Amino acid sequence: MKNAKKIVIRTESHETFILQTNSKGRAFGRCRQCDREVEILSLDLAVSASGIKTSELVRKIERKEIHAIETGSGHILICSESLREEDGRKGDGR
Ligand SMILES: [Zn+2]
Repeated sequence: MKNAKKIVIRTESHETFILQTNSKGRAFGRCRQCDREVEILSLDLAVSASGIKTSELVRKIERKEIHAIETGSGHILICSESLREEDGRKGDGR
C-alpha cells in the first residue's frame, strides 16, 4: 500500500542526488552539509513552512545560512533541518 518512490536528481556539480518521497508526499534526501538524511522541501514549501519570503530565502541560501541543493534542471531543494534552525533563531517559531 505504500506509495514511496525514488527520484534521482543530477545536481549542478553532476552529483547524483536521490530523493525519496513517502506516501504523504514528503521527500527525503541526504543533505551534504548536515551529512545525514533530512526532509527536503521545494522552495514553495519552504516559504510556506517557514513564513520567510522567497526573496529572503534565496538570500539566505546564497549566504549559506540555509542548505539548498540546486538541481541540473534549475530547481532548488531546501534542507528542512537548516530551515528549522533559521526558524529557531527568530525566537518564537510561529
Ligand atoms: Zn542540511
